[in-house]
Amino acid sequence: MKSLLGLAFTAALVTLQGCGGGGGGGDSAAPAVDEAGILENIKISNLYGGNAFSERDAYWGFEEYPECDDRSKLDDPEFEGDEGCPRVRSAPVDWEDETIGRLKKWDIASDGLIPVKHNNSQYAHHAMDVIETKMGVMLFDRNSIVNVDYYEVERGLIVSEGTATGMFGSISPSTCGTVESRGSQYALGGENSEDPSWFDENGVIFGPLVIHIGQDDPRGCSQGQDLNEIAVHEFMHALGMDTHFQGFGIGPIYSDDAWNVLHNILINYQYMDEFELNIEKRFPEQE
Ligand SMILES: [Zn+2]
Repeated sequence: MKSLLGLAFTAALVTLQGCGGGGGGGDSAAPAVDEAGILENIKISNLYGGNAFSERDAYWGFEEYPECDDRSKLDDPEFEGDEGCPRVRSAPVDWEDETIGRLKKWDIASDGLIPVKHNNSQYAHHAMDVIETKMGVMLFDRNSIVNVDYYEVERGLIVSEGTATGMFGSISPSTCGTVESRGSQYALGGENSEDPSWFDENGVIFGPLVIHIGQDDPRGCSQGQDLNEIAVHEFMHALGMDTHFQGFGIGPIYSDDAWNVLHNILINYQYMDEFELNIEKRFPEQE
């Protein structure tokens, strides 16, 4: 199950930022985009994933940009855009990743439902209920790993309440949710940082991914955000929606545009490229 690439996708910090506005929950004021727009959103969020470059470069870029690892700036939410610490950097010249431009997803058909160590989080159960109901399929195995130790989980999702952080472990008023590889540098425990990959060379996501919901520190998540909505959004990240787009973290926390992307991730095969994908506009559903 482990990536053979070694340096695979880090996506260390997919963070919900500034999502307090917009239409909230499932409703979007704007009509949902058409098939071409859905494909564009999939390209942004999954195939090319913007963050697939920007985040893994952030992870590997400290030698080139040592100032980016300045822990004294952790409390500054603008830190990632600081001069000298550009958010988007060019990919390393020797970077090789055959999954660029191809669909990354959990292979439920072959590997089974996605095991979830939910730690009895009601937010997590809410999110799984909402997503399975909306998609009309079972996705999550809520039983098999509930008693498995954090470090023993081999495939699946691990839920942690009150521990969401932003870039480099920072805490800000908008820090409400994060998804990261358990192997990432800033994950709970902080060890095991040699292997931050989410998925293998075939585009199959396996994790283990840690879904952080809420922040116990009063400096974090302090704008009255709805943690049920945050949880749905973070689970959608964990299902393969890496980068935010209009209707997912930009504007609404999630909208029909977000549901259409998730639907199309689920109905297509991993490792397909943009020309192989079969795109359906399912939402809004007609009565
Ligand atoms: Zn997000």
